[in-house]
Amino acid sequence: MNGDARKIRLLMELRKQGVSDTGVLSAMERVPRELFVPEAFQDQAYENITLPIDAGQTISQPQIVAEMTAALELGPRMKVLEIGTGSGYQAAILSHLCRRLYTIERHRTLAKEAEARFAELRLSNIVLQIGDGSQGWPQQAPFDRIIVTAQAAMMPDVLLAQLREGGVMILPIAESGREQKVVRLRRTADGVEREALMDARFVPLLNGMPAAAEGG
Ligand code: SAH
Repeated sequence: MNGDARKIRLLMELRKQGVSDTGVLSAMERVPRELFVPEAFQDQAYENITLPIDAGQTISQPQIVAEMTAALELGPRMKVLEIGTGSGYQAAILSHLCRRLYTIERHRTLAKEAEARFAELRLSNIVLQIGDGSQGWPQQAPFDRIIVTAQAAMMPDVLLAQLREGGVMILPIAESGREQKVVRLRRTADGVEREALMDARFVPLLNGMPAAAEGG
């Protein structure tokens, strides 16, 4: 089976699993996942599975990417922040559905690879920063939407403060004593509404920058 046939099969699988947002499906159709997956896993690029990338990190399962993207309720004029660029796959999908995407990755090697992919795909509305995303991007705040693609251990108040009123934030979180869930937080005039969406396993959201031994 060639890449296109595999991609179509994956899109059908996502529909079958309940992904119905046509904007999200067409963004996923436009982004070649094989470009974001290491050489050794090329034949699995369009399987509905998480795959390893450099620096001990992962590229998320297509279904999780689709569901989290749909849950963000994106609009074409929105300014969006992603924490945890990783391979850049989720960022590429988001960039087709918003006005400008800001994305932060703490591993320099991953960030450089992702940046090269954005250039190759001519995704000129993505702005990438190498840094600690747990501090957000205060110079660009407020954001209409924030998505965190690494698992937080507590409510990220710093990020919530950078969300516009009426804004939505999606993140995997496992607060002490609670199981890991992807949640949707909505910032309202009087506070924050919280809604649990699904189970998922993500690599942890870490503080600070990596030590050399961690692999850049
Ligand atoms: N969205 C990615 C999935 C990335 S996995 C994709 O589509 O491929 C999570 C990423 O978050 C990893 O690359 C990890 O290095 C990064 N990360 C973890 N903690 C971070 C932090 N505090 N700031 C920025 N990036 C972080």
